[in-house]
Amino acid sequence: MLQVWNLCLLGLLTQVRTSKALRDVSGFDTAPPKIAIIGGGIGGTSTAYFLKELFEDNAIIDLYESGAIGGRLATLPIAGYNYEVGGSIIHPKNQYMVDFTSKFGLQKSRACSGNVGLFNGEEYVYRDDSYKFVNFVKLLWRYGWDVYRLKQLTDEMLTNFARIYTLQTEGHAYQNVTSLLYDMDPMFSKMTHNSSAAWLKGFGFHDLMISELITAVTLCNYGQTPDVHAFVGSVAVAAADPQLWSVRGGNKRVAEELLKHSRAAYLRRLVAEITPNGQGHFKVTSSETETPDSRVFSEENPSNIADSDLRSQDYDIVVIAAPLTKDNNNIKFVNFTKEFDFPGHYERIICTMVQGKVTPESLLLTPDDAIDEILVTNPKLMFNSFGKQCPVDAHDYSYDNPDVWKIFSSAPLEEDQLNIFFSKRNSTNVIDWLAYPHYDSDQKLGDFELLPGMYHVNAIEWAGSAMEMSIIGAKNVALLAYKYWLQNPNAGMKMPLKDEL
Ligand SMILES: Cc1cc2nc3c(=O)[nH]c(=O)nc-3n(C[C@H](O)[C@H](O)[C@H](O)COP(=O)(O)OP(=O)(O)OC[C@H]3O[C@@H](n4cnc5c(N)ncnc54)[C@H](O)[C@@H]3O)c2cc1C
Repeated sequence: MLQVWNLCLLGLLTQVRTSKALRDVSGFDTAPPKIAIIGGGIGGTSTAYFLKELFEDNAIIDLYESGAIGGRLATLPIAGYNYEVGGSIIHPKNQYMVDFTSKFGLQKSRACSGNVGLFNGEEYVYRDDSYKFVNFVKLLWRYGWDVYRLKQLTDEMLTNFARIYTLQTEGHAYQNVTSLLYDMDPMFSKMTHNSSAAWLKGFGFHDLMISELITAVTLCNYGQTPDVHAFVGSVAVAAADPQLWSVRGGNKRVAEELLKHSRAAYLRRLVAEITPNGQGHFKVTSSETETPDSRVFSEENPSNIADSDLRSQDYDIVVIAAPLTKDNNNIKFVNFTKEFDFPGHYERIICTMVQGKVTPESLLLTPDDAIDEILVTNPKLMFNSFGKQCPVDAHDYSYDNPDVWKIFSSAPLEEDQLNIFFSKRNSTNVIDWLAYPHYDSDQKLGDFELLPGMYHVNAIEWAGSAMEMSIIGAKNVALLAYKYWLQNPNAGMKMPLKDEL
């Protein structure tokens, strides 16, 4: 018996020595931190991935997700194909999405694009032609040089936006969104205190351009008018790029791969509460979700909490990678000495997916009109956009695919309204999203660092909500957590890239 005991002790000592040796090699002289990430969307999964990169294998990471991995990146099967119903298009200059897609061996698909019409409820104020050159001339004819100047302004912004990749590679991290924007370009933080319309007017843009083109892109991308702040307005304008793309098989595949490569433990649980637990620890209390995928397409649903199954775990670091707003938080912060003050609320956006035959006349079109995407310039209409969809899994975008249409609206569409738009419907699916922040013209921006050791990725959404923005927020938070754990503001810093060359 004594021999068995000695053997066990020897085994334990060897284990302790091995892990100590590992920590010494990588420069860590304390036990690995235990980190909780709450949320398995692109923000949470990329946080897990970046933490794994920074800590190498010297961190224990648990990722809590009560719905499906991907969060607001989700696909829906219709007639044997799958369709994006959440975040769907990616800008060619979204460097993290480009890199992850290639690193994980995923393929890019050209974004589904057809002829666009701008509709004001009474007529089409602009319609695409099949020839690109003609389109440019038509746009110039209606909006004059504003079209050219908008492209110039957007290109300039994108160049300055790209500075974040250098800053983050060098290891810079920011406690709040304002300072992150400021370091990219001091103008960016100013833009969050001015409406998009006022900002563009300040540059000499004309009312027609703002009331039509800019309104159409802000309504289509954020369900809001150019009263949104100018930074997010510019993100919406950038989303009108002709080279947009998406991930074959669905954008959510990037989140799935990030989780896999991070080697974080995936806990299918709903976090109900976070409590400080003394000595810089946090207690995270969660419950099993009744059916893991029941919330894939909906906002947080408290009815999923099974009280009997509450479980608490202690962590050194907690990262919240889900929206936290003034009006609606499913996570309670209990016994903190500090009051957390989160901005505003999220916009409800209804995504109605219909496989069926459109009645062209209901959209003031003739059967010969080749319009595939209707954007609206009038916020009072019953929809914000109405467009033909391509599946995520087709090898090319031939129009032999089933006739599937996506309608974005701020309120659910009634049966009789749908019957006006469609002469025949094979299937109708409704996805009710709490989609993105309701933006003000003078926006209160959030904090990434809620407390030392507790971070919030989605603070970045108040500057602009997009997949790439969540990844930038994730990288920032991973760097903050790393510096905090090593108690060294220079941890993770590299020489400025230009000096290295
Ligand atoms: C309809 C729509 C269209 C969009 N179009 C585009 C687009 O074309 N291009 C683009 O770049 N972006 C687009 N976006 C925005 C983009 O999808 C989001 O900005 C991005 O996906 C947010 O990712 P996230 O991980 O930060 O948050 P989420 O994807 O919301 O992830 C948060 C996760 O946390 C989980 N969670 C929440 N609370 C808890 C809890 N208490 N316990 C455990 N888990 C919890 C949720 O289930 C969720 O999965 C669109 C969004 C919507 C809704």
